Amino acid sequence: MCNWKVIVPCVWFILLGNAQFLLAQQSPSEEAPKLEHFDPNMVDKTLDPCQDFYQFTCSKWNAAHPIPADEVAWGTASGLSYWNENILREAMEKASSQTTGRSEFEEKIGDYWGACTNEPALESAGIRDLKPDLDRIDGMKTKAELAEEVAHIHTLIPGAWDGEDNQTNAALLGFGPQQDFDDASRVVAGIDQGGLGMPNREFYLKDDPTSKEIRQKYEAHITKMLTLAGESATQAAVDAKTVLAIETAMAQAQMDNISRRDPKNLNNKMSFEQVEALTPSFNWKQYVADIGAPPSQPHYLVTSLAFFEKLEQLIQQHSVDDWKAYLRWHLVHGSAPYLNKALADENWEFYSHTLLGSKAQLPRWRRCVRAADRDLGMALGEAYVKVAFPPSSKERTLALVHDVEHALDQDIMGLNWMQPTTKEQAEIKLHAIQDNIGYPNHWRDYSSVKITRDSYLHNVHEATRFEFHRQLSKIDKPVDRSEWQMTPPTINAYYQPQLNSINFPAGILQPPFFDPSKEDAVNYGAVGVIIGHEITHGFDDQGRKFDAKGDLRNWWTPEDAKAYEQRDQCIIDEYTAEIPEAGVKQNGQLTAGEDTADNGGAHLALLALSTKLQTEGKSLDTKDSDGWTPRQKFFLSYANEWCSQYRPELMRTVVLTNPHSIPKYRVNNVVSNMPEFEQAFSCKAGSPMVRKNQCRVW
Ligand SMILES: [Zn+2]
Repeated sequence: MCNWKVIVPCVWFILLGNAQFLLAQQSPSEEAPKLEHFDPNMVDKTLDPCQDFYQFTCSKWNAAHPIPADEVAWGTASGLSYWNENILREAMEKASSQTTGRSEFEEKIGDYWGACTNEPALESAGIRDLKPDLDRIDGMKTKAELAEEVAHIHTLIPGAWDGEDNQTNAALLGFGPQQDFDDASRVVAGIDQGGLGMPNREFYLKDDPTSKEIRQKYEAHITKMLTLAGESATQAAVDAKTVLAIETAMAQAQMDNISRRDPKNLNNKMSFEQVEALTPSFNWKQYVADIGAPPSQPHYLVTSLAFFEKLEQLIQQHSVDDWKAYLRWHLVHGSAPYLNKALADENWEFYSHTLLGSKAQLPRWRRCVRAADRDLGMALGEAYVKVAFPPSSKERTLALVHDVEHALDQDIMGLNWMQPTTKEQAEIKLHAIQDNIGYPNHWRDYSSVKITRDSYLHNVHEATRFEFHRQLSKIDKPVDRSEWQMTPPTINAYYQPQLNSINFPAGILQPPFFDPSKEDAVNYGAVGVIIGHEITHGFDDQGRKFDAKGDLRNWWTPEDAKAYEQRDQCIIDEYTAEIPEAGVKQNGQLTAGEDTADNGGAHLALLALSTKLQTEGKSLDTKDSDGWTPRQKFFLSYANEWCSQYRPELMRTVVLTNPHSIPKYRVNNVVSNMPEFEQAFSCKAGSPMVRKNQCRVW
């Protein structure tokens, strides 16, 4: 993630709603997991690499790895994800079965595991543990009580401020800490648009047949969920219509995700009185008192003024009964995965089956591992690091990071479109990047989280309360530059522009991404490109607007900014295209930052490899004993990390909502921009993998 949530995630893998692991795939079988190593012999030599490099590298791999029923995608990270999850499972199972001699934290993870995996207890409890919270909502007498009920839900349901995919889907709005745009050393309170139950506003507003069908299914889903939570079918059907009407009006007023890419659109500073005046029917004083947020000095940041103006109208227009229905829905929706089978299955049916195309639920243990990683992961990760991340891996990764940073240094110095004053600023920013490898310096103290074996739902509520308060406690304090936003076993990486830091969790520093058993060409093509990708985010269309300290400050001369934008436009045009596999068109403006990072990453990693081989007296183009040159293996290893298949529903959702392009394009669009690729495979001019108008920013 880039910045808690207001800034578009500058991550490497896609993030989707509450299911950020969905693309970090795994096997449905219970066989012992294996790590997969890159094998250049998996390419299909009957195909021409210059025609379709993705197919050349991945067709055999994909054919040999069909998507399992309980998955929505399957790729080369699959075995790794399964392997990572197994390490956590073992630690939790052991802690769960032991009855004596456990540390305080082992008691917590053991009991968390015990409660989550006890399906008979979940069945017999039904909605028992949710009932008091439903009763609270039913007891609402006036709309003036809306603020306290929203506050209550925000402390129970994960995601009030840490929503993924660039927005919160918390009830009504998002609230949490935000580094100040103009002074990144300071943390203020951010107030964000929110309130939707579907992934983003496009799902409410598009009028193609698929979108209409999804909305019908959504309404039916809300009806079923409210029925399962105790409403009559007739009342639930009426309530579902009300919820959809409220959320659609919210979606109309939301700022779209392309406007949100420009930080200046989000930088609306307001006093508390101004916030109150924006939505006077919402009792802000009550809300901040109930969640326990400290006053924010010298201002609050409100991301979308139009949204909060609309919210005022909506509160006025709708009756207290309408708002009760809306809150009941958000409470039940956010709690369903932690309740009985009927609710968990119905939740899966809409969010995983309809929206993403999954054919079966993940086994219980995997759902428990993922929930525990979210709820207790910053201490649970220690168990993972002990097993999976030796100091030698950290050292070698850090050396790779330095090589790629040095490559960007060389690249900037050699640019013919940038003037010396801007180059100097770019260099300062590059040298100030903080490199975080593997895991945080301190494990989080979860001692105040009360975990029991009796109620999975209560455990999730407890962990959410802890995390929400931890987030809120940052407001009005100096920023903590050492904090990580991903847990150690996560298969992902990120750049954070307001901290000017890159973070590579131990979870991704494993085969096939980082493989100590492989030569440099393979590692630079895989993890090297990921490193280059994250570093480039500091200089993409969004990252370039922040300076070395993370402040939103223009350090570009007008001429250089213009030259940048021309190059950026080439990328936007290249990636704006119909995606036949998804049945929708990609908007290159949404994916510009990620696409720029993909292209920059590949260029920088290859430059770094070339320099390293030169210093060792080796050449990029001399064949190794396996018959491939290092240059060829660099590109094969790069494409290999993207070998994967998505279900069509997932593909459509990704193209509509996600700032990352889908894998085939992350390979082919990048290599077709690179003369170095032409050279590697002796492609002729005019081949599909040799673009006429090659784009290059970094
Ligand atoms: Zn990225």
